Amino acid sequence: MNNGSASIVELFSSIQGEGVLVGLRQAFLRFHGCNLACEYCDTRSDEPPEEALLEETPGRQDFLRERNPVPLERVARLLQLWESALPGIHHSLSITGGEPLINHRCLQEWLPELRAILPVYLETNGILHHALSEVIPHLDYISMDIKLPSSSGCTGLWEEHRRFLKIAARTTVFVKAVVSAETEDWEILRTAEMIAEVNPRITCILQPVTRADGTPGIAPIRALEMQEMAGRCLTDVRVIPQTHKFMGQL
Ligand code: SF4
Repeated sequence: MNNGSASIVELFSSIQGEGVLVGLRQAFLRFHGCNLACEYCDTRSDEPPEEALLEETPGRQDFLRERNPVPLERVARLLQLWESALPGIHHSLSITGGEPLINHRCLQEWLPELRAILPVYLETNGILHHALSEVIPHLDYISMDIKLPSSSGCTGLWEEHRRFLKIAARTTVFVKAVVSAETEDWEILRTAEMIAEVNPRITCILQPVTRADGTPGIAPIRALEMQEMAGRCLTDVRVIPQTHKFMGQL
């Protein structure tokens, strides 16, 4: 990022396929780069793209190519045009990645202007708590991952997640954990206890990992068992698979 510009991957309009806002229409602004390397990742790439893909008409996949870095004004102008064309259709602007918080300086600069157009929803892997503390005044919703070792292959992140969640709870936060057939009981219990320590009413989404053929990767009864375990100390535990993949949405 420099002089109000940033390397972005794409800006598009689609249906939110995961979590508490599933089914709602959102604008998605995807930043490049991530600090983790999850085994199930479908967005990771090492090199930032030379060009950003910007949807001209919301939801029609008529992408314009724009050389990176893209100026904030270009993104804001496009969002304003979308809102004029389809007023009220977008629930919020999803800031996604990769891990958007690695661009926290850019976000500090961009979010006040973008939030004047749409409420801001941050999708994050829930690790970079120092970065979160800088941008949280500009966030309306946070969808925070807890990376379970069994499904993500990432280890040693519990303390980072705990610190992150304490800051995230200053706004509306939902927690999401991708679960697989390998996920063990202690991981579900530790996740639930960590959330309960901050606030037992925070929504916890258990998201079955999606197999290559698009079907959920855990047995139905195992999903119920996990929900029961987490429900011992949380009031709102939901099992929601990724829906955008079987709907063929972006
Ligand atoms: S945190 Fe998200 S973007 Fe980063 S590697 Fe994991 S799944 Fe991929």
